[in-house]
Amino acid sequence: MSGNVVSGNVVSGNVVSGTANIVDNVQTGAPVPTQPSPGQPSRARRMFWPVTGIAGLIGASAYIGMVDPNQAGHYPLCPLKYLMGADCPGCGGLRSVHSLMHGDVVGAVDHNLLVVLAFPIAIVWLTLLLIARWRGQPIAGSTWVRKWATPLAYAAVALVVVFTIARNLSFVPFLDSGLS
Ligand SMILES: [Zn+2]
Repeated sequence: MSGNVVSGNVVSGNVVSGTANIVDNVQTGAPVPTQPSPGQPSRARRMFWPVTGIAGLIGASAYIGMVDPNQAGHYPLCPLKYLMGADCPGCGGLRSVHSLMHGDVVGAVDHNLLVVLAFPIAIVWLTLLLIARWRGQPIAGSTWVRKWATPLAYAAVALVVVFTIARNLSFVPFLDSGLS
């Protein structure tokens, strides 16, 4: 690790109170702060909402894994499906999560492809978020994230639109939610 060392110390993401250590970003050469500014909330406060959210997601997934959405009466029916008979992008999502919780990836894809695609992305993103919050750095501090966030967001929206149209076309197999 080379670069501008302001106060004589080089740290790699460790919190050292008081001094402002700066190291070069490997990709851009732009200086990236390696520790939070003095006014930054404590680590416990930074971690609270990400950890709470992840615990909630794990709890919800476990619940959906245990309470089978394939059996009627456990969950409310999708309003779009109920009123218009069409699949929204989320239709089949609960059954897809249920299948994933039971290790049935093919069944999960059959119920809702987007859920299966989103699962590993969510795990990677939440891991990056946890690391960033632990270190007291913005998740957007990564050049890769800054460069790709906007194009990826547009691509995700386009994918959801195409998926929603395709799964409601009768001649496209496999993408529909499986509910008639
Ligand atoms: Zn729906």
